[in-house]
This record gives sequence, structure tokens and C-alpha cells, in this order.
Amino acid sequence: MINQIQAPIELLNNLATLLADSGNKGALILIRLHGMSRMASIFGTRITEEIILGLIEKIEQGIRPTDTLMRLGRYEFAIFIANVLNRGHATLAANKVAGLLSQPIVIQGKERNLPFSIGLSVSPLHTTDPEQLCKYADLALIAAKITQSPYQVFDPEDLAGTVTNWDIEGDLEKAIANNQFTLNYQPKISAATSQIIGAEALIRWNHPTHGRIPPDQFIPIAERNGLMPKITWWVLNTALRERKQWGRATQNLSIAINISALDLTDKSFFKSVTSAIGLWNTPPELLTLEITEGSLMKDIAFSANILRKIQAHGIKVSIDDFGTGYSSLAYFKQLPANELKIDRSFILNILNDELDQHIVSTIIQMAKKMRLDIVAEGVETARMLDTLTELGCDIMQGYHIARPMPQQEFVAWIASNEQDDNRPGE
Ligand code: C2E
Ligand code: CA
Ligand code: CA
Repeated sequence: MINQIQAPIELLNNLATLLADSGNKGALILIRLHGMSRMASIFGTRITEEIILGLIEKIEQGIRPTDTLMRLGRYEFAIFIANVLNRGHATLAANKVAGLLSQPIVIQGKERNLPFSIGLSVSPLHTTDPEQLCKYADLALIAAKITQSPYQVFDPEDLAGTVTNWDIEGDLEKAIANNQFTLNYQPKISAATSQIIGAEALIRWNHPTHGRIPPDQFIPIAERNGLMPKITWWVLNTALRERKQWGRATQNLSIAINISALDLTDKSFFKSVTSAIGLWNTPPELLTLEITEGSLMKDIAFSANILRKIQAHGIKVSIDDFGTGYSSLAYFKQLPANELKIDRSFILNILNDELDQHIVSTIIQMAKKMRLDIVAEGVETARMLDTLTELGCDIMQGYHIARPMPQQEFVAWIASNEQDDNRPGE
């Protein structure tokens, strides 16, 4: 039978007893269901509660009689797994619960998936203190939410980082209005001529108290909080506006921006892009939208449709982080693309890993057959650049050529790059 617990102190008391009874060997699994308040406002409280009771029944059937399921709030639960032998054992239990929660449920005749996050902490591995054990499971749960994984085991290294992630959510909304975003530009150069052919805009967030927060950390949070359309709109317009200040280069240098797969689900996305290029008077073929292969694979038919529309308008599409999304070649044929960017992880090992070199070479040959431009990102040394040139890669990007730079520095870089090209004897 499930324990109904409302006050946190009750959970702690319960946990103290459970831990003592199992000789301090146990795991705490925290479960939080997401989007339930919204569901309650759509389907009503009664149906929502019935769904939750159904879930509880499912979980109860899936755990052992010695495990204890506790309801902590309307949409939050904990399971104490007694006599856990090790971390692997605890992970198996979390995996099982995640599997049960992932099964779609039928609501008003339609199958739906309920989003959830699970955090896991283990005693005595992490701590034997009930209060700490709760805190660690909670931090692991936040980490699971941020990384969009069904469950996470507490990792002591995440302690500091995870706490600040909480602040990020609230502050992100205000970041645009408060002028905290800027763009850096990283050149793409032609392997054949060493000339710059364009640049990629990369967003930077200067947080007033946390300092610079890397995009890898806040973009996933923005995606989950529905802030991507606003951010992408800001990036697009800022990049096109700043591009106009690149001097002579404005005529022929292309600009790439990164978009999120979620942008494609925004009904007004196509219109925002076309009106932005109109507003900033940008030839469509000089705008590239970079989208990661992994995110495209989630709903390829849908993404391909919109990307095709964008391409038909003359705008270029680039598949970013290529090679990491496990797409088969058959899938890939459906993707409307002009450019492939080979993921940095393959480039990184290209000098010392034969397999990676082989993969890169295969991707390049395939891309050529499909008449796609091929870009190597993360080119950090001259030797990497030479090897990639030998393998037939056309376009290079990476610290060896230039790091991403703020607008002013980038404008100066273009100018010095032009001077280098005009120097006699070079
Ligand atoms: P990405 O699109 O794959 O961008 C390349 C990342 O690699 C950038 O990190 C860049 O600074 C870094 N990089 C470039 N050359 C080298 C190199 O030679 N060596 C190494 N080690 N790194 C290199 P950054 O700027 O931190 O961006 C990380 C990711 O965040 C981007 O990966 C992209 O997915 C995302 N991102 C950045 N700006 C935006 C944006 O405006 N919108 C969206 N949706 N995502 C963005
Ligand atoms: Ca990119
Ligand atoms: Ca990339």
C-alpha cells in the first residue's frame, strides 16, 4: 500500500526508519511528473487524479514487496529500494520504473506519453544521512530533466553546476529584454583558397552574476521552457543586422545561424525567416540554417517538409554534428540539405584513429555524390587541416583558423584576412 506523505519532515522520518531497517543499504528513487498542472486544466482534476492512481498501481505492480512507494505531493513520488547491493542494482530499479512510466497511457481515447524525470541516490555510496540522500536524489532528478534523460544517478561532480541551472530558468526569460545576449562569429574558410566564405553566429550569454554561461548549458533549458522561438528570432535578426556591417564582405559572405529542431515545430518559423531576410535585405542563398542531425532524426518526415520549404525559398540548410545521429543512409536521402558538417568528435581523432579517418573519408565521399558542401568543424591544428584537405573536405572551421569572435574583432579579422591575401608573393 502506498504511503501518503505531505510534509517533507515525514519523508525524512520515514527514510530514517527505512534506512535503519535495511542496515543503511538502500536507494532512493525520486519521481516527478511534468506538465501535470496543464493536464489538469485541460482534462480536469478528476481525470488527472485517475491517471495518477493508474500510474501508482502500475509502479506498485512493478516493484518488490520489500520496496516502499511514497506519494510526496500531487505529482511527486519516492521509492525506497531496500537492501540495494550496489549502484548497478539501484540503476536497474530506476530503469524498470522509467520503463513503466514510459508506457503510453490512454486519455480520452488517445495514447499519450507523460513526461517525467527520475533521480536516484544510493546509501551508503553517496551518504547514509536521510536528508542528504533526499537532496542528492533531487539534484539527480534536476540533472535528468536538464539532460532529458529518463533517470540520472546522483553525481557528486554535478553538485555546483546543477544548483546554478535552477537560476538559469528564471533568468533566461529576461535575458533578451536585458540585452544579455551577444553573438560571436566564427569564420568558415575554403580549403582550396584559404579565403573566408562565411561565418557561423554563436550565441553568448553574459549573466550579470554567473558570468558567461555556455550555450550548451542554457539552450536545452530554453528548449524545455518554450523560449527557443524568441531566442532564434533574436539570433536571426541580430546576425543579419550585424552582417550588414561587415564592410565589403557583405556582398558575398554567408551567415549561418544555429536553429533548434523545436523551431521547426513553430508555425510562424518559416514566415519569421523569410521576413527577416526581407527586412535586412539579405540574399536568401547567403543565409544558412544549421540544424543538428540528432534532433532532425526525432521526426524526420515533419522536419524534412519544413526544411524543403525553406530550401525552395533559396535559403541553405546545413546538417550539423553529422555522424552522431545514427541516421542510416536511407534516412539521409530524405533530408533536404545543402551542407554537411562533420561532427567535431571525428575530427578530433582524425590524426590518430584510423577508424575515425575512415568514417570521415566515407562521409566526404558520400556527401560529394549527393552534391553537398562538406564542412569540417573543430579543426585545431595545421596537420588536421592538411589531412582533411587530402580527404577531400572543402570547407574548414576551427580554432586553427580562428576562434569565435565578437562582431568588432571579427570585422577586423576579415580586413586582415583580405590584406594577407593581397600581400605580394603569397
Ligand atoms: P555547434 O553548432 O556545433 O558549434 C560549434 C561549437 O564548437 C561552438 O561552441 C564553437 O565555439 C566550438 N568550436 C569551434 N571550433 C572549435 C575547435 O577548433 N575546437 C573546439 N574544441 N571547439 C570548437 P559554442 O559556441 O560553445 O556552442 C556550442 C553549441 O551550442 C553549438 O554547437 C550549438 O549547438 C549551440 N548553439 C550556439 N549558438 C546557438 C544559437 O544561437 N542557437 C542555437 N539553437 N544553438 C546554439
Ligand atoms: Ca553549428
Ligand atoms: Ca557542430
